[in-house]
Amino acid sequence: MVPDTTELHRLLHRHFGFHEFLEGQESVIEAITSGQDTLVIMPTGGGKSLCYQLPAMFLDGITVVVSPLIALMKDQVDGMAEKKIPATFINSSLGQSEMDDRIARMKRGEYRLIYVAPERFKSERFVAALAPLSIALFAIDEAHCISQWGHDFRPDYLRLKWALKDLGQPQVAALTATATPEVRADIIEQLSLGKFGRKPPQVFVSGFARHNLTLALSHTANKAEKLEHIFDTIDELKTGIVYCATRKNVEKVYEELAGKRLSAIYYHGGMTEEQRTKAQDKFMSGRCAVAVATNAFGMGVDRADLRFVTHYDIPGSVEAYYQEAGRAGRDGEPAKCELLFNYADVKTQEFFIDGANPTREIITSLHLTLLRLCKHGPVEMPMSEIAEHVKAAKNDMAVGTALHLLTRAGFIARDYRQGSRTYTTRLVEPVKPLDELALDFERLDAKRQRDFDKLWRMIDYVDCHGCRHGYILNYFGETDAPEHCSACDNCGIGPAPKRRATKRAKTQVAASAPAAPPLDISAKEKTVLLQKALSCVARMNGRFGLGRITLVLVGSRSKEVFDSQLDELSTYGLLKELGYDFTQELLRRLVTAGCIQVTTDEYPKASLSEMGRRVMLAKTQVNIELPPFEKPKPVARKTSSAAAVAAEAEAPYDVALFEALRQWRHDVAGTMGIPAYLVYPDATLKELSRQKPQSEAALLEVRGIGPAKARQFGAETLGIIRGAS
Ligand code: ADP
Repeated sequence: MVPDTTELHRLLHRHFGFHEFLEGQESVIEAITSGQDTLVIMPTGGGKSLCYQLPAMFLDGITVVVSPLIALMKDQVDGMAEKKIPATFINSSLGQSEMDDRIARMKRGEYRLIYVAPERFKSERFVAALAPLSIALFAIDEAHCISQWGHDFRPDYLRLKWALKDLGQPQVAALTATATPEVRADIIEQLSLGKFGRKPPQVFVSGFARHNLTLALSHTANKAEKLEHIFDTIDELKTGIVYCATRKNVEKVYEELAGKRLSAIYYHGGMTEEQRTKAQDKFMSGRCAVAVATNAFGMGVDRADLRFVTHYDIPGSVEAYYQEAGRAGRDGEPAKCELLFNYADVKTQEFFIDGANPTREIITSLHLTLLRLCKHGPVEMPMSEIAEHVKAAKNDMAVGTALHLLTRAGFIARDYRQGSRTYTTRLVEPVKPLDELALDFERLDAKRQRDFDKLWRMIDYVDCHGCRHGYILNYFGETDAPEHCSACDNCGIGPAPKRRATKRAKTQVAASAPAAPPLDISAKEKTVLLQKALSCVARMNGRFGLGRITLVLVGSRSKEVFDSQLDELSTYGLLKELGYDFTQELLRRLVTAGCIQVTTDEYPKASLSEMGRRVMLAKTQVNIELPPFEKPKPVARKTSSAAAVAAEAEAPYDVALFEALRQWRHDVAGTMGIPAYLVYPDATLKELSRQKPQSEAALLEVRGIGPAKARQFGAETLGIIRGAS
């Protein structure tokens, strides 16, 4: 029988000792008890557990709770025991006889709640033991782990849909703290919520508003400024977490705190389990006030009295940010969440995304590399060494992920050797070509795009001028997100972000141009200016350094430009009026702002970061100060070769042939995945349409065609010219 509100309150009080439901709990419980499939999205600490624990008290049958947090299962079950609710857990921490005993008791119907780790469903024996029981509710905690779009995908979760089938499709409650609309849709689809004759699933989003948190964003020019913020915060608020994106940053920040004799621990995935447990215990027990950590520090952190969470680096998504920031003020008392932002930090997240999502090019190249390396049998080689053989890879992590994908697709097998502490890689027979492997490139590309989109939504949070609480609640899909709050920097009532100019930033500006005034242009003109600069970087396709890009932007007539036919680019001369010094400094500032990335090799090459691409496409804005402006000196006079080029450019040519060649060039470039001008620049196409060479020898006379080009494209080029005459 479905209990009414009074009955629900009575149960709440009697079994759990609470007087009121937390926001959202009651409606979720009503939907569950009326037999509907539900998807519950509540933040960490929002009270999700009660949503299935309370119904478990009177539903007719067992409630199975799937949870990946083995470490927390025992606590949950002990909590249930205190409330006199018969519950148990079954996971890998149990010995075989204990497990058998619990399964036997489960079969005898001695439990109302059974907590199970997702990997348990690998065991046919376990599923078979569960199948005959009457399962009233199948509650899936951390349900976002089923979605490959989520940040925490766990393959074991995919097994759940088969388990549900074997268990006769019981009613499902999926619960999570983090789910974007697409992850939500994925959860509903993967778990077939609302199918099998049940009503459409009810989706609840609630409890994300955290009125006691002040959200602040501080633009910081450098690490020293970030540290200043952290010291101020610790000084004022004492207890909290500083999240960093990398292990290296964790250790650096920790050392700075230790240097000031501040009580802190550090925590990241590179530490041994023993070190991590020790650090976590020290912090959780209150013996230490500050934790400096990567996102590895999280699951199970429930110290309620944290007065601040500061992000030293931008995280990869709004979900990650809010989950981490939300660890502040769990006791309901005021707490501050500050993000210390510098556009250059976006690069780290882009690096992670690149690493987690290898491109088709990298996978293809790795496939070829492995065919070659493992031709004569298994090779014992660490990933970093394999990566050295992969042409397209700039990021070892991407090769690691690609190795994983090729292993999963059954192309290779990798075994870890304790002795050498490295992997042996071998080809799996029969050795398959790439297109016969189960690799869904479209899906991989889409995932990469989604990861970048999430990062952009996080950058939008940085750039947003409205209420930050409102932005986050909208993001999570809460319908009544406020337009104004009293606790964020943008609404002006919370603490304003500190924007102190550092000594270093000041001297930099002073040194580069002591007396020059700033360039006086409107905000719109400034945006266009940045777009012009960035589009030139994009056009040069990561093949040149900042110096050459500057030359192109200012329309230099230098040999370096003409020799590479860079004067053919549409961005050539775009910033002519602004001069070399200004343009070069502007590009440097775009590097600092994270819009341009520069390689660290002997000849550093510049390319657009995803952030830069977004600024170029006007999808986001970047807040950089323009360099000082002095009227530029005239650029170098035309060289004789430049004069010749200019004269050639004026001469008539066969437009129809030019167009035919251009179309062919477009197709070739597309197939090869390279920019068109690397096949032939426009000047060469015009020359071909003018001279119409009929032989390979004549072809070599055309400016821009050397033996290599002639070998590569000669036959096709001549074919088009012949076809057109
Ligand atoms: P979640 O799983 O969403 O992270 P929990 O279920 O662990 O959150 O609940 C967080 C805390 O809130 C727990 O300490 C729990 O006892 C408490 N809680 C849950 N429901 C209520 C309620 N109705 N009234 C007061 N406290 C509650």
